[in-house]
Amino acid sequence: MKKTIFLLLFAFTIQSASAEFINIGVLASKKVLSIDFSIRAGQYAIFTENGKLKDLNSKDLIRVEYHQGLIRISEGQKVIGDFRKVNFIGTGWYNHFKIQTISPGGIERRYDDNLKILVQRSSLLLLNNIDLDNYVAGVVEAEVGRKPPKEFFKLQAIICRTYALSNTHKHLVEGYNLCDEVHCQAYHGKSFYSDIVDAAMQTKGAVIVDSDIHLITAAFHSSCGGETVNSEDVWSKSLYYLRSVKDTFCLNKKNAIWEKKIDSNTWKSYLTAKLPAASNDSLLYHYNNSDRSVFYYGKGSLSFEDIRHKFHLRSAFFNVQLDTGKVVLKGRGYGHGVGLCQIGAMEMANQGYSYSEILHFYYSGVHIIDLSALDFFKED
Ligand SMILES: [Zn+2]
Ligand SMILES: [Zn+2]
Repeated sequence: MKKTIFLLLFAFTIQSASAEFINIGVLASKKVLSIDFSIRAGQYAIFTENGKLKDLNSKDLIRVEYHQGLIRISEGQKVIGDFRKVNFIGTGWYNHFKIQTISPGGIERRYDDNLKILVQRSSLLLLNNIDLDNYVAGVVEAEVGRKPPKEFFKLQAIICRTYALSNTHKHLVEGYNLCDEVHCQAYHGKSFYSDIVDAAMQTKGAVIVDSDIHLITAAFHSSCGGETVNSEDVWSKSLYYLRSVKDTFCLNKKNAIWEKKIDSNTWKSYLTAKLPAASNDSLLYHYNNSDRSVFYYGKGSLSFEDIRHKFHLRSAFFNVQLDTGKVVLKGRGYGHGVGLCQIGAMEMANQGYSYSEILHFYYSGVHIIDLSALDFFKED
């Protein structure tokens, strides 16, 4: 048994060690043809397929553009050359750079660490080759903004890091690990907010694993409305650590309640098509869903989740009543309800719970481990 655990740890370490720098496809949905590169901190050198091209000075402004299937680099009016790949590699202790798009115009972003550029589909493919923890700080800011309490940033950092490491394959076909949009995780570049940067660094390397030392699916949502849901009630997969928990922390907070009115004929035709048994009015127009039911009368036929998608509702946790010819849905929470409730977690952080206590409250029976501790294990 001990040997099995050791082997699992060993396998996990090898997989994670190579992921400490990660390639993020940035501005991935834009057809970028031309950018300007400049240094904001540290030192940089340009490398191409032929090796090192030159060291940059801190004031240099380098134009990079797509040109007849290659990447053209120029400085001022002077063309330096055309290449198949171009890497801006940070050579200082702490490096960050700015890119300004020229075509399409108007986007300015700052990133930590390195920029790798390739040609893909007659445009530039921009990859931010970045230290995992620097990336995590950027994601936390893009995903939750600057308002939450400091302790919350730490658990969000651990969640984003866990997600990143378990999804490094997502864009491998396109030549990188993750994109910078919500498809993977929103990422708009470097975070300049010290509470977020500190949270990413203070939790450096921390990830959440299950009892088999596999990275968990760290699902989260805005507000559960008082009770989270089992994973299999929303998705097909049952995961032991994504269990329903009663959550009083998000009650009376942001996104706690909502209401939507629906034309009663629209409602009736949808429900009777899906649920022939719901023929009488008391079944059709009344449901007191105090215990977060999964199904709308009768197991297996129509789920609250189905109704949520059909009518674009904030959550699948609502009561149904009839009021002067309209069906009134009175709901609680915002989002799918699986895993960590962000509003509840923020309240827990405000009340003094630690990031570890909060993660263990929403994810049952998981472990928070440190990748560097696993490296140590391996060497032992
Ligand atoms: Zn993606
Ligand atoms: Zn909640």
